[in-house]
Amino acid sequence: MAEGWLVPSIISHSVVAVAAGTVCADGTMPVRFWLLSIICAVLPDADVLGFRFGINYGDFFGHRGFFHSLFFAVLVGVLAAGMFFRSPTTRPWRWWLVALYFSLLTASHGILDAFTSGGLGIALLSPFDATRYFFPWTPIRVSPLGIRAFMSPWGMQVIMNELLWIWLPAVSAAVLVKASLVLAKMGSPEEH
Ligand SMILES: [Zn+2]
Repeated sequence: MAEGWLVPSIISHSVVAVAAGTVCADGTMPVRFWLLSIICAVLPDADVLGFRFGINYGDFFGHRGFFHSLFFAVLVGVLAAGMFFRSPTTRPWRWWLVALYFSLLTASHGILDAFTSGGLGIALLSPFDATRYFFPWTPIRVSPLGIRAFMSPWGMQVIMNELLWIWLPAVSAAVLVKASLVLAKMGSPEEH
């Protein structure tokens, strides 16, 4: 188990980011909104770099450790909101709403990983509890750690599996929410 790229996983977390952004976008959003969304959703996997520095999988800062926790997600969310607004906003509730959006997006990473069937569990409650958690139901096949494994039949199976369990629900949810918003907008004037 050396360093890896987790390619299908990174693409799938980006799909979740774009789907969530589509649902939550307030009109046309600046490019940095989309960039920050994708960065938040994939950032926890940057912990694979730790393998290069001798950090073990099961360590506090190891893969799926602290950087996959809900606590870290809140820190990232607040930081991302700061980068999004750049200067103080006159509507603080909007600032916190955006911070919540980026936090949930970052948290979605660890939560989705807890549905995978392999590797170590996710330290969702780190730094308060070092337990590595999995949900009781783990339909998502774990991504290979390493580019060579990714090119294997295993890698292909992972892509098909993520298409089914991540892309399909994420895109369907985004389309459904968007469609119902459009329908609600079209329907409302006729009621009066
Ligand atoms: Zn991950």
